[in-house]
Amino acid sequence: MTQLHLDLTKLTHNYTTIKGRLAASTKMMSVVKADAYGLGAVTIAKHLLDLGTDWLAVAYAQEGIALRNAGIECPIIVFYPQYESIDSIIDYALEPALFTPPFIEAFAKALNQKNKTNYPVHLKCNTGLNRIGLSGTEVDHFLSKKLDYPFQLKSVYSHLGASENTRPCDFTQKQITAFLSIKEKVKKTYSSPPLFHLLNTSGIFNYPELHLDLVRTGIGLYGFANQAAWDQLLLPIAQLSSTIVQIHNVQKGDSVGYNQGWIAERDSRIGVLPLGHADGISRQFGKGVGGVWINGNRAPIVGNVCMDMLMVDLTEISCQPSDQAIIFDQQHTASDFAEQAGTISYELMTSLSPRIQRTILK
Ligand SMILES: *Cc1c(COP(=O)(O)O)cnc(C)c1O
Repeated sequence: MTQLHLDLTKLTHNYTTIKGRLAASTKMMSVVKADAYGLGAVTIAKHLLDLGTDWLAVAYAQEGIALRNAGIECPIIVFYPQYESIDSIIDYALEPALFTPPFIEAFAKALNQKNKTNYPVHLKCNTGLNRIGLSGTEVDHFLSKKLDYPFQLKSVYSHLGASENTRPCDFTQKQITAFLSIKEKVKKTYSSPPLFHLLNTSGIFNYPELHLDLVRTGIGLYGFANQAAWDQLLLPIAQLSSTIVQIHNVQKGDSVGYNQGWIAERDSRIGVLPLGHADGISRQFGKGVGGVWINGNRAPIVGNVCMDMLMVDLTEISCQPSDQAIIFDQQHTASDFAEQAGTISYELMTSLSPRIQRTILK
């Protein structure tokens, strides 16, 4: 059986390690979007609240609604709110990031219709990532109209596109300069200014002088920080394991899997594991790309990964059906596994399907 083990003591370690790098006045926003990076948002969010996180962050409204339905009452920011979810954002007391002028107007209108005032919102500024965010002029326009809006501006933020790059990084420096100038403008127009924030996990490690009022940490909570030296300070909280369900002896020249994805170059032993691309192990793996760990030895993934199953080469490994296979754990990390197929821990973890049994260690 394939199982994802989550160790909440390691989540505590990561949270306190990151928090420990901040000034006492800097707040923590814990990012639990995409089901807490595939690991299980409700369990993780509740643990983070016990640890004292100030905010939770999700990408879309329905993720915030799921947290509210699980009884979570803390402030929840929605990074990427959509027009269709405006009513539910208000009904579930979620805090939207506002990032286009028309959405600002639509959100204000919906609040007015519901007779809501002083509603908590956040402004997202584009400083060079060119993903989402208000331009500098759009921020100016917002500031000039701020008294007309039924908002309480809780924070103003931007997002770096290359926060893990070695310093100095010209691109990041430009983003920082742009954000600090927006910050000064905003500060001048409010008697009690909102919070300002810029950094995700790698930014927290790489730009300690820019922690500002708040940091937004996601991947770090789950044990990664996008550079070996920082990764060493954190503990991956998830371990993915499976068990061998069948072993075949195949002869030199025999093929394995769909479309004869792998041809045995010698007589071989092939093991089958009950997880496939529907579980988040993409077809970029297989045909020799990526390996799992069985009794301390690396078994390469051979053939094409199927929807529900994948095959590994056990020829050099002494093992039998029901033995455990580690896909990733603390020693053989999700980040190492992901890199073999040209991707990153973020994508691998968020792809893990809900049908993988989650087990929680406290
Ligand atoms: C996902 C996200 C984060 C978290 O980034 P990590 O690299 O996982 O720490 C922070 N800010 C924004 C706007 C995000 O979308």
